[in-house]
Amino acid sequence: MTDERVHIRPEIAVLPAYKQGRQAAADAFKLSSNENPFPPLPGVIEAVHAQTAFNRYPDATALAVRAVLANRFGTTVDEVHVAPGSVAILHELAKATSGPGDEIVYAWRSFEAYPGVVTVAGATSVQVPNRPDGGHDLDAMAAAVTERTRMVIVCTPNNPTGPIVTGPEFEQFMAAVPQHVLVVLDEAYAEFVTDPAAVRGPALLERYPNLVVLRTFSKAYGLAGLRVGYALGPAYVLDAVRACAIPLSVTAQGQAAALASLEREGELLARVAELAEQRDHIVAALRAQGWAVPDAQGNFVWLPTGDGTAVAAEAFERAGIIVRAFAPEGIRISIGEHEAVETLLETARSLVGDLQATA
Ligand SMILES: *Cc1c(COP(=O)(O)O)cnc(C)c1O
Repeated sequence: MTDERVHIRPEIAVLPAYKQGRQAAADAFKLSSNENPFPPLPGVIEAVHAQTAFNRYPDATALAVRAVLANRFGTTVDEVHVAPGSVAILHELAKATSGPGDEIVYAWRSFEAYPGVVTVAGATSVQVPNRPDGGHDLDAMAAAVTERTRMVIVCTPNNPTGPIVTGPEFEQFMAAVPQHVLVVLDEAYAEFVTDPAAVRGPALLERYPNLVVLRTFSKAYGLAGLRVGYALGPAYVLDAVRACAIPLSVTAQGQAAALASLEREGELLARVAELAEQRDHIVAALRAQGWAVPDAQGNFVWLPTGDGTAVAAEAFERAGIIVRAFAPEGIRISIGEHEAVETLLETARSLVGDLQATA
């Protein structure tokens, strides 16, 4: 026997495995993964419990969920795709459109899954720095499109910095991008957006034949652990995406939970409104302390802690709050339990003088 190792693609060998937000100690608040602090909506647990035929495969096409979403957004069922989380759909879209030599453009800093999605497809990342206010620089992103570009990802509100893309900004951007380039509008936090100027992807699908909109049940609907996300877009694009999907990976439990959640719109909106109010309160308080917090339209806020990011993350952890640190830029804090707010603000106040990045 030799100790020769099997061949791993070199770009994969150096790719870091997915890093999850730190699991919190029992008495700590886990504000590191943008999860919903509320339990599933009423009726959802019962709907999941009713799915007991584990010896059978689920409906591979998630037809019932797609039918409800198609009805809600005024599309056909073929213009809806359901997958185990919208991260899965990002992988499917990258594989369907891009391979070696092709480029995928996205803002940076943005969602930490994007670089891996591009690399796994064999394509090349083109990262366009955010504006100083933490928003996408859409002019620079449009200018970064070359004849090699196959896909552009626009994340609104941007995870982790918080600002939205406005409707007019997005329309100007779409006018500048060639129609053979797929534009993916990642709206994972759409339900939390309260700014009326924000782009709303579903309303634009008829207008732009190269647009796919991503949404998820993980955040506002509180189903992160059951893995259900969806895409809206042209049927032929989503057929290609379906061809790249791992079959049967949306469980019957996930489908049942999604369906039951879609029936509880009133309760959903009440929870979302509560979290958005808490977010606005936290942003206002942090700004009053002197923090340059960017506009926050998701269920998270961004603290520009710069070179002091690691020190700040430790201070929050000592105070019982697990945050997500992106050294050397800043810290993302999810909007979670009410009980965490006071400690969060006290800790931020203790740090502001020393750690505010000089942007
Ligand atoms: C959380 C998140 C997603 C979705 O995650 P899934 O749980 O896979 O649906 C997608 N995009 C962004 C920007 C996110 O923050």
